[in-house]
Amino acid sequence: MKQLVCVSALTLALGWGGAATAVQSYEIPEETAQTARELMETALDSDLAYEIVESLTTEIGPRLAGSEAEARARAWGAKLGEELGFDVVEIEEFTMPFWDRGRMEITMTAPYDQALYGTALGGSGRSDGDIASQIVYFRDIHALTLVEDGALEGKIAFVDGEIMVASQVGAGYGAANQRRRIGWQHAERGGASALVVRSVGSDSRRFPHTGMMSSRDGDWADIPVIAISNPDADHLRRLHNLGESIELTLSSGAGWHGDVTSGNVVLDIVGRESPEEIVLIGGHLDSWDLGTGALDDGAGVAITVAAAQLISELPQRPRRTIRVVMFGAEEVGLLGARAYAGEHQDEIANHVLATESDFGARTVWQLVSNVNDDANPAVDAIGRLIAPLGIVRGGSDVPGGGPDIIPLAYSGVPTVRLNQNGLDYFDFHHTPDDTLDKIDPAELSQNVAAYAALVYLAAELDVEFRTTQSPEGASE
Ligand code: ZN
Ligand code: ZN
Repeated sequence: MKQLVCVSALTLALGWGGAATAVQSYEIPEETAQTARELMETALDSDLAYEIVESLTTEIGPRLAGSEAEARARAWGAKLGEELGFDVVEIEEFTMPFWDRGRMEITMTAPYDQALYGTALGGSGRSDGDIASQIVYFRDIHALTLVEDGALEGKIAFVDGEIMVASQVGAGYGAANQRRRIGWQHAERGGASALVVRSVGSDSRRFPHTGMMSSRDGDWADIPVIAISNPDADHLRRLHNLGESIELTLSSGAGWHGDVTSGNVVLDIVGRESPEEIVLIGGHLDSWDLGTGALDDGAGVAITVAAAQLISELPQRPRRTIRVVMFGAEEVGLLGARAYAGEHQDEIANHVLATESDFGARTVWQLVSNVNDDANPAVDAIGRLIAPLGIVRGGSDVPGGGPDIIPLAYSGVPTVRLNQNGLDYFDFHHTPDDTLDKIDPAELSQNVAAYAALVYLAAELDVEFRTTQSPEGASE
């Protein structure tokens, strides 16, 4: 091991390669590399992914977790898997509590009448008729967390914040998301009759952004919680800064409706040599109900299904099994991902690598990974092979793989991720504007090319991505 460390130091000193932990060189066997290049060429000329996402968004439409539409999407996914010739097609059902938004209205009534554009957040409570009250303005979520118990009795709390900065990597989403996730807990503690928050998004359009709140030990909001569009939040801020007393009237029909069935669709291309070893890819089948979930995450389903299908057309199956999972109920708390990890507990150790596409449909620009150190040179080699697609090699110690991969990663499954350009992702994310027209077919094909090459190589190469136990237990 000492020698490898020295090579690593030399590598870093020479500034070669993008991966800080590269310890040695790895060459992909030429025949295998050639097959991967041909897969990329085929993918760039293929319309399959676009046809899949067009079919899903048009024939099924919005797919709220646990809804009848999500059930139709599962049937659609299984039928697609059969038509495309996957070796195994399964629907794995699970039970989940069902929430829907019902009807919602929100209007500013003072200092004058003006309709606002809002939507209930996932997990919001309902109102008993109209709630009409003055607002208490909070500059940001931090200010709301400092509110004293009972200080908002009979009032509507409004939490402002900033428009998200548009960035390739979606920077700031986690922080901005706090007002959406935990705002209700402090509003209820303060005794507010409702909570209104600035949408979490990077756009200045009058579309509100929905999304799930966080439960408090399994409890959800009793009060209505509504996100309003960024321009509407700007408007309230300006009035507040003028010293105006602002009043809103709102109502919400949102609520919980007991347990329903959701499920994951699992499609396998069975490996020719080590069928028990699984390279898992996928996206989530559910979407929020405001748009048609083209970017989030019809595109991810389409990209990964199309990539696997192209690989299945090779003269022979790769060594390992390629599994595409269309996860159910991602938006409401990774319920499908958790169900998958539970259902497949006995074979989790056989998952050699996992990744999800769930960040829109723009081009992939970066490959990051979190695999066994000894496998990094092989990931670097894959990175070099897909570089002509405009993809750079990023960090080799980046945990993740995608939201639905989290439970698997917690269980030790190695991950990679093909990061997409997210510059405008949060313009459309969870809004009525997440529709098919936002997808550029050529950019989608670039994604398929990257996935096809990466997944084929991960399934074909004799590389161990998992962390193997050192007999001495002294491996660092
Ligand atoms: Zn998503
Ligand atoms: Zn989402």
